[in-house]
Amino acid sequence: MFDVAKIRQDFPILSKTVYGKPLVYLDNAATSQKPRQVIQALVDYYEGYNSNVHRGVHALSMEATQRYEEARQKIADFIGAGSSEAVIFVRNTTEAINLVAGTWAVANLKTGDEILTTEMEHHSNLVPWQKLAKEKGIVLRFVPVTDQGTLDISNLDSLLNERTRLVAFNHMSNVLGTINPVDELTRAARAKGALVLLDGAQSVPHMPVNVQELDCDFMAFSGHKMMGPTGIGVLYVKPSIMDQMEPFLRGGEMVKQVWLEDATWNDLPMKFEAGTPNIADTIALGAAVDYLQALDMSQVRQHETQITAYALESFRELKEDLEMYGPEDLNIRGGIVSFYAHDVHPHDLGTMLDREGIAIRAGHHCAMPLVRDRLGKAATARASFYVYNTEEEVDQLVEALKQALRFFKGRAT
Ligand code: PMP
Repeated sequence: MFDVAKIRQDFPILSKTVYGKPLVYLDNAATSQKPRQVIQALVDYYEGYNSNVHRGVHALSMEATQRYEEARQKIADFIGAGSSEAVIFVRNTTEAINLVAGTWAVANLKTGDEILTTEMEHHSNLVPWQKLAKEKGIVLRFVPVTDQGTLDISNLDSLLNERTRLVAFNHMSNVLGTINPVDELTRAARAKGALVLLDGAQSVPHMPVNVQELDCDFMAFSGHKMMGPTGIGVLYVKPSIMDQMEPFLRGGEMVKQVWLEDATWNDLPMKFEAGTPNIADTIALGAAVDYLQALDMSQVRQHETQITAYALESFRELKEDLEMYGPEDLNIRGGIVSFYAHDVHPHDLGTMLDREGIAIRAGHHCAMPLVRDRLGKAATARASFYVYNTEEEVDQLVEALKQALRFFKGRAT
């Protein structure tokens, strides 16, 4: 059984008070909280076997190496990668996507080639492609967003052609919560011989994800959004493609032989991990994956669907005052609720909720083309859920929202 009260006990921060009120943490799409087990993994490493990995011959180094590589295997199993060689450790989703842009794309795309992405991307899946477009004359095309907050894939034929080399899109939108149609987009990409990059920053932490079943070539995600520490992320690359990719950064660890004028590269995936890696945080991400596996990702998804259904229903009371975003169909909706109050700036709303101990996010959510240009707002407010959130917390959010709306409406008249 999915026991939220028990889960909450694993997260020390959830018993904190903010301005004298119990913390209600609803900013999980920005970063999640960490369970004791993850924090303990960091302490265990630094207290018990802190040491550099790979070349060491002493006991501490061998233990660190073993645990570091075990974490890689855990993550490979978690996303169904087939082999741990397909898992490259990076800092975060942003670095993962930059790695693909700076290696595979630089080597394989030429002037006039095309990349298809969407209007609902996080900047980290947009700005790296813009650089390539400017420097190499690559054409960027965008799948539009419907009024329901889904991708409009009715005109894929006009957006894809023989020059399309990559289709890069988010699995789940960090603004709308939309779970995008990977199957349709991947099939269409394959038909034109294009590769597929999935931004899994919002999907991997919240639902079962199997990269082989999704048939993507690249998948990027961040440890800090899935109960792991900051500073550790993952790039999955299909091994047949990784084999042909040049290194991203160059230096120690990523080489096999070095002469004064030349060098050969280490085995996969170490060829892409130059310098001393983020050992502690990688091992702790392994602990986060253990934690999520024990909860069972289908249960995680089910719990969040339930909370989201409850939130959408509760928000109906406020429909006169709020504009809501994202699809209503919970089969294609993750635990993210973005909204805009007609009478209150999202930042004021965020500040008032904070006074009640409720943490939400207000801003453009690093998706300006979507929020500013498509939704027509400088900012929206966003509540995002995880395994430890409860319906009572949604009630508190709605109550605090009502109060804030009353306060600002009173001032407006
Ligand atoms: N893509 C999506 C969909 C995201 O939600 C985020 C984080 N908000 C990112 C990419 C970037 O993640 P990071 O900042 O960890 O690189």
